[in-house]
Amino acid sequence: MSNYLLACIAVFIFFYSISLLYITIFYHRCLAHRALVLHPVFEKFLWKTSCWVTGIEPKAWVCMHRLHHRHSDTQKDPHSPAHSGFFKLFISQSLYYEEILKKIRNYDPETLEEIADIDYPLHPLHQKEGFVWLTPYFLHGAIALSIALSTGLWAISLCYYFGLTAHPFQGWAVNSFGHAIGYRNFALPDQSTNNSFVAYAVMGEGFQNNHHRYPDSPKFSVKPYEFDIGYMFCLILRTIKLADFDTPKLGQEKLDTHKEMS
Ligand SMILES: [Zn+2]
Ligand SMILES: [Zn+2]
Repeated sequence: MSNYLLACIAVFIFFYSISLLYITIFYHRCLAHRALVLHPVFEKFLWKTSCWVTGIEPKAWVCMHRLHHRHSDTQKDPHSPAHSGFFKLFISQSLYYEEILKKIRNYDPETLEEIADIDYPLHPLHQKEGFVWLTPYFLHGAIALSIALSTGLWAISLCYYFGLTAHPFQGWAVNSFGHAIGYRNFALPDQSTNNSFVAYAVMGEGFQNNHHRYPDSPKFSVKPYEFDIGYMFCLILRTIKLADFDTPKLGQEKLDTHKEMS
């Protein structure tokens, strides 16, 4: 494998991971479920930079995610392959996200109630209607283009851009595979599954069945052969005093089912 190809892969993985860490640690485990507490200065930094990195508004993401947990795989679930369709879910999750953003802007009481504990205002990039929220995508596109034009490293520039803006694909993989294809450790009323491939590609998020069983846990893996990469980062953050949480003891009770689904 050439050095250039290796550099492309490294750049893609690096920026893909940065964006994903914002989502899985900050948006999901910290804000949506309060499974860990972040150092206030660090949390503020993450909030201020969140939209610039991921392009996604934290409050709207949290609201959509909490609705997903509340109504998993029913008609009210914002994204379920059970009613959106496996591939159409990619579009429907984005449309629902847009709808929630509008409801927050318009002070819809039910929507605001769902996120009443989130102290932050809407991120400035998302406070007004229009296309201002696309700014990070254009900014990163401009950065990638400048690097490519000035150095000729087009493939590396593309890896930087698509690594950083991969969230819609990461979300689709979790929301579709994680509720349709995989094994189940717990017999829950929803259709959540553990999909190991997605779990490793999206830092533990693919262990949806485990996560729906223990939504308040910072750790999504339960069995000895399951490994939650996101939780590893939680442990690192706790070691350097940027996060705090109690070490969870999951799966102590008898695992009730282990059903393969297709
Ligand atoms: Zn889920
Ligand atoms: Zn969740």
